[in-house]
Amino acid sequence: MCQEIKFHKFFLLEMKFNWASIKFKVDIELCIGCGACEAKCPEVFELVDNKSQVKLDPVPEEFQEGALEAEDNCPVQAISHE
Ligand code: SF4
Repeated sequence: MCQEIKFHKFFLLEMKFNWASIKFKVDIELCIGCGACEAKCPEVFELVDNKSQVKLDPVPEEFQEGALEAEDNCPVQAISHE
């Protein structure tokens, strides 16, 4: 019973950590609508009216690497994370 509770607590902490660890933002004043971020990580970024938007907040662990690469590759440094 006690072990079951410990496992449950660990699982919840793990989920919280994974889902809350990284939030991405796009500065639409800087974004030039090149589409590079959407091409690199379409699970997280999409172009709407020629500006990039973040689709997932926070970004799940499985997409974080792609989103960070998209941030690095943005030609005008419009993407940031916290
Ligand atoms: Fe905008 Fe940068 Fe994405 Fe290009 S890579 S669409 S400039 S946020």
